[in-house]
Amino acid sequence: MRIANKSTSAVSLIKASLEKIEKHKDKNIFTFINAEPALKKAEEIDKKIKKGEPVGRLAGVPYALKDNFLSKEGETTASARILTGLESPIDATCVEKLEAEGAIMVGRTNLDAFAHGSSTENSYFGPTKNAFDSERVAGGSSGGSAVAVALDCVEFATGTDTGGSIRQPASFNGVFGIKPTYGTISRYGVVAMASSTDVLGFFAKSAADLDLLMEIASGHDEKDMTSLPDFYGSADVELGKKKIGFVKEFVESPALAPELKTALEEKLSLAKSKGYEIIELTLPALEYALAAYYIIQPAEVASNLSRYDGIRYAYRTKTLKSPKISSADKSSEKTALENLFLNTRSEGFMRENKRRIMIGNFVLSSGFYDAYFLKAAKARTLIIQEFEKAFKSVDAILSPVAPNPAFKLGEKVNDPVSMYLEDVMSVPVNLAGLPAVAFPAGSTTSEKTPHLPLGLQLIGPRRSDKNLLKLVEELV
Ligand code: GLN
Repeated sequence: MRIANKSTSAVSLIKASLEKIEKHKDKNIFTFINAEPALKKAEEIDKKIKKGEPVGRLAGVPYALKDNFLSKEGETTASARILTGLESPIDATCVEKLEAEGAIMVGRTNLDAFAHGSSTENSYFGPTKNAFDSERVAGGSSGGSAVAVALDCVEFATGTDTGGSIRQPASFNGVFGIKPTYGTISRYGVVAMASSTDVLGFFAKSAADLDLLMEIASGHDEKDMTSLPDFYGSADVELGKKKIGFVKEFVESPALAPELKTALEEKLSLAKSKGYEIIELTLPALEYALAAYYIIQPAEVASNLSRYDGIRYAYRTKTLKSPKISSADKSSEKTALENLFLNTRSEGFMRENKRRIMIGNFVLSSGFYDAYFLKAAKARTLIIQEFEKAFKSVDAILSPVAPNPAFKLGEKVNDPVSMYLEDVMSVPVNLAGLPAVAFPAGSTTSEKTPHLPLGLQLIGPRRSDKNLLKLVEELV
């Protein structure tokens, strides 16, 4: 990470970043650019350096903030119309910590609205394009953040990962991304998606940079009751068995692109040449992970999104008339207040948000709760237990992040099930609250030009985040 010091000024770092942002405008990476305040902060840092005053570990480093992190700079929209105009009175805890170390936010990045998606096509502001091929998706939901790092617009970017939203876009754009152990970084001040699997993390150009960011951002926070006691860098789980596993069910999956299978095999032989024993694991409960995730997560979404009513936040409808469902249906007549809720939510949410709210309310409704939500919760427990068992015999598990490299824009966006299938290899990690690091593992070599990045993930037991990053360094 390039940090401002006597030979590199903060102003020059920020200017270079703003130039890159301008250069890659057509990729639709940013929802907001913070040019003037960023330059002002850089000047302050340069003054301090000149006077010999101490500066933070991220002095003058330009970074991008996924637009679901609250900060006082710019609107926080989560790329959803219903939050347009939202000016936050607070900074997320994570933002406070980064800024305290001198990092400078140069812009907010595009995402699938409310982080629902795997391609950034569900954004109110239109899709972000892949760093390597503008006809392909950036991945999602943190597509903007991944592309911002891949194209050197910033040194690092923040992300959230509820079911793969850091790892999958990282792998589609050839950068590193960490999805920490659940509870490692405070979620305070970040727009909630599914509270039991949401985690904050980062995109960067190396595992060492991710480690520094984790040192800074992790830690217990009284404002987030689910944040863990401090452990990062002090009470880390050791990975000393010299054994790496791979999941038989993933490797044998017909959905897995042959190039990714080869990339995985190559990394496993690299690990072997470094003295690791390679173990085949069977984790049969993973078969239920995707179904369980797409029950549990919409249930939590339906609850978390119920607060957006047109009264408390930002966007409000202009029409208080009842929407015309059917002219003969008199029961659709509503009060003005009901219409305000209804029309605000109809106009303010994207299709995908509405789909999840409907699924979520369905699986929680009486009569269906036992058949869906309770079963999914049980499957989740099985998945947790299988991982726990696996980590008795291996240090970490190497796996693809997604079954394929970046797909074409428009290819899956109108087919929700095929979009959800993208997440089959990433969601088990979230259901079990485990840490995982996505890292680049070569690129496609077929006739397709330009070549597309391939990404893998290394999954570890809870609280092994720091050692997992070290292990990744051995594999790149
Ligand atoms: N693609 C997954 C989903 O749509 C994960 C999203 C995320 O991690 N925010 O739910």
